[in-house]
Amino acid sequence: MATGSRPISYSIIVPVFNEEAVLPVLLRRLDQLLDRLSEPAEAIFVDDGSNDSSPIMLQELAKRDPRFRYICLSRNFGHQIAITAGMDAAQGQAIIVMDADLQDPPEVVDQLIAKWREGNDVVYARRLSRAGESRFKRSTAHLFYRLIDSMSSINIPADVGDFRLIDRKVLDALRQMPEQNRFVRGMVAWLGFRQAEVTFHRQERAAGETKYPLFKMLRLAADAALGFSDAPLRLAIWCGLSVSGLALLYGAWVMALWMSNDSRLVAGWSSTIIIVSLLCGMNMLLTGIVGLYVGRIHAEVKGRPLYVVQKRLGFDHDQSAPARAPVRAVHE
Ligand code: UDP
Ligand code: MG
Repeated sequence: MATGSRPISYSIIVPVFNEEAVLPVLLRRLDQLLDRLSEPAEAIFVDDGSNDSSPIMLQELAKRDPRFRYICLSRNFGHQIAITAGMDAAQGQAIIVMDADLQDPPEVVDQLIAKWREGNDVVYARRLSRAGESRFKRSTAHLFYRLIDSMSSINIPADVGDFRLIDRKVLDALRQMPEQNRFVRGMVAWLGFRQAEVTFHRQERAAGETKYPLFKMLRLAADAALGFSDAPLRLAIWCGLSVSGLALLYGAWVMALWMSNDSRLVAGWSSTIIIVSLLCGMNMLLTGIVGLYVGRIHAEVKGRPLYVVQKRLGFDHDQSAPARAPVRAVHE
């Protein structure tokens, strides 16, 4: 559906990091999706510092077809920031985020939109199954969602990635959350509004390799745990209390031995060493946890822009809905 002069209803945001293998199929499927939609729509590709031919393909497309937009970040800022950059540029009334690798099938977008039309503000897509992913990825993901849900005071839906639709008013609220370490699906859950779900079977990646190696998954998990729960801090307090409690009990026991002139009181080196190292270890653990929080405070205090946009293409076609300035992003 061409944008014409009517305001844009749907913005589809696709973060792209070295996805040249999958782009031809993705573009075909997206083209079909945009044709199918009854209202004007735009697809915004956020190039998250790709160093393959994805930028060339996407720029070509943005020049040729007014429905496609291209944002190039100046380096790899990570999936969550790429999504944020796309959201800041979105003009639609409903904003849909989906992966480039077709693991989030464009056909499910029709269902997301149908639920939105029923009056829901957030419609997320829950994975009923995950094909083509290693047992390790499936089990860590399973554990991650359960753990986050039990640790956090807000209800973050399980088995739901960033594939979702949000209403313009949810986006406006989301953009008032300038935090640096972003866990977007948690932030949307935190916002509340009227939420609904659709379900789908997650397919294998259409082509190419995963762009989420273990260290990126761990970083996302840390952002989720530290950003949406104070459980690590509470854990630190409980650890500290139990170790001190044990030390007190041990002290009382030694005192009792001393008062009864017990011959066992000849203390060995090993017990001393064990206690000292145990306490040192606890100390380090607690300092580390507090340090994580201090690190995050530091990141917020610095107040850096979340990302830097190097280039914007394809935003000038539609004069009726001027591009919105991002909250804290720096352009050009
Ligand atoms: N991605 C990104 N920046 C990154 C890593 C990933 O923009 O640093 C994009 C990637 O191109 C894809 C989406 O985020 O569109 C999800 O990544 P991927 O499919 O590799 O993750 P997985 O499905 O394996 O968890
Ligand atoms: Mg994927």
